Amino acid sequence: MADTGTDTADVVVVGMGPGGEALAGSLAGAGMDVVGVEAALVGGECPYWGCIPTKMMVRASDALAETRRVPELAGTAEAFPDFAPVARRIRDEATTDWDDTAAVDRFLGQGGRFVRGTGRLEGADTVRVREEGGERLIRARTGVVVAAGTVPFAPPIPGLDRVPYWTNRDAVRAEKAPGSLCVIGGGPIGLEFAQAFARFGTRVSVLEAQDRLLGPEEPESGELVAGVLSREGLDVRTGVRITGVAHGPGGFAVETDHGRIEAERLLVATGRRPDLEGLGLASIGLDTSARAIPVDERMRVAPGVWALGDIVGRGEFTHVSVYQARIAAQDILTGGEGPVADYRALPRVTFTDPEVGAVGLTEDRAREQGVRVRTGTAQVPSTARGWIHEAGNDGFIKLVEDRDAGVLVGATSAGPNGGEVLGALSVAVHARTAVEVLRSMIYAYPTFHRGIEDALNDLVSGD
Ligand SMILES: Cc1cc2nc3c(=O)[nH]c(=O)nc-3n(C[C@H](O)[C@H](O)[C@H](O)COP(=O)(O)OP(=O)(O)OC[C@H]3O[C@@H](n4cnc5c(N)ncnc54)[C@H](O)[C@@H]3O)c2cc1C
Repeated sequence: MADTGTDTADVVVVGMGPGGEALAGSLAGAGMDVVGVEAALVGGECPYWGCIPTKMMVRASDALAETRRVPELAGTAEAFPDFAPVARRIRDEATTDWDDTAAVDRFLGQGGRFVRGTGRLEGADTVRVREEGGERLIRARTGVVVAAGTVPFAPPIPGLDRVPYWTNRDAVRAEKAPGSLCVIGGGPIGLEFAQAFARFGTRVSVLEAQDRLLGPEEPESGELVAGVLSREGLDVRTGVRITGVAHGPGGFAVETDHGRIEAERLLVATGRRPDLEGLGLASIGLDTSARAIPVDERMRVAPGVWALGDIVGRGEFTHVSVYQARIAAQDILTGGEGPVADYRALPRVTFTDPEVGAVGLTEDRAREQGVRVRTGTAQVPSTARGWIHEAGNDGFIKLVEDRDAGVLVGATSAGPNGGEVLGALSVAVHARTAVEVLRSMIYAYPTFHRGIEDALNDLVSGD
């Protein structure tokens, strides 16, 4: 392979997903000489295969669900689902047919330099980039930032490695909703696809190995979503062990300890893993079999090396990656004087209908951490707005209070606009607002967020 020489820069960023792109742009904008290295598309998973296309699917499928609620509320309406407008929006509006020219130009406009290729560390200050037609070494004067994200993880199910299963990357490129779909994995990604396709007429099964959906969240969240999905006609199975997968002319056959499932398509959504080996992280002494890169509170891995985003395993969300980019950029620009990362009020939203928003600790996590916990819950259908809303009003608000401190350490807001209601709860957890202060506020009537007041009134001893 041709050697295209050695280059130097202040900072080399490996991986230009949301975090790498934000960090590289801000450092370049501040006058540093920054080289961004990206193997695929600048912008990463989120705009091309993740957040944005999936939320376009969710938006369209929610419109169908609302139409189906018309008979209960407003007469008659009939929806004739057509996936073509969704596929068109994803191709033309979200991803510009999976073309990142605009993102590359934006970065160049900020003063950055861009290399399309695969980067690999060779020690703390050197990145070897394999690009079309050659290789180059880039030496970093100030540092290297690893923001290379993760790739879908497929569990060791017999036969899975020999069948053409879908990951999120295939599912967002679907031109039409499949006739039937088996989803392995009951986390946010699997559930968003499952409900969206089902509302377009796909016969969907969801298989989850754990005993509930949305495992790390409150148990009530998983129960809620499982109940709604089952009511909508999805076949939701938890606590399932998959013993084998096969594919033939008729589609997929998934063998489980609860029986066989046949489907036209199989979507594997069982988490994601980084490729630390491929990134050459052994060259700076890291254990490349680890699930994530260990970082300190300023995203430092080693002197002159930072890491951020999904690859550091502190929350696989775009907002976390961009937040960490801010922390790392300030550390680099100030030489160690910037703020430290604080994950106490980390918000997360699963965009099913009902949306499940959560922030901070669940009740169980708080107890595990030794917090003396009180919880309060309000059921959305029992709130004024939920009662008015009627069709599609499933949901609840749950608060987790540290009784000794008198502040919320966590909250869940599931229901219509659950992710939006979460905003107020995130402020409360982030700012450690006293529960007494939250009680003294005026909550607009009849909003969904007024359910927070009902949940505050329900805060009872959890001991
Ligand atoms: C289906 C789906 C839906 C999602 N929905 C949401 C959502 O609604 N909200 C939310 O907050 N998050 C969502 N996420 C998660 C979100 O996409 C990620 O958290 C986010 O993209 C992570 O950003 P990152 O900066 O770690 O980089 P990534 O987006 O993972 O990008 C990393 C980049 O590094 C590049 N790269 C990897 N190795 C190399 C190398 N050796 N050299 C050069 N380049 C390399 C990759 O090509 C990639 O472009 C979703 C994810 C998926 C899969």
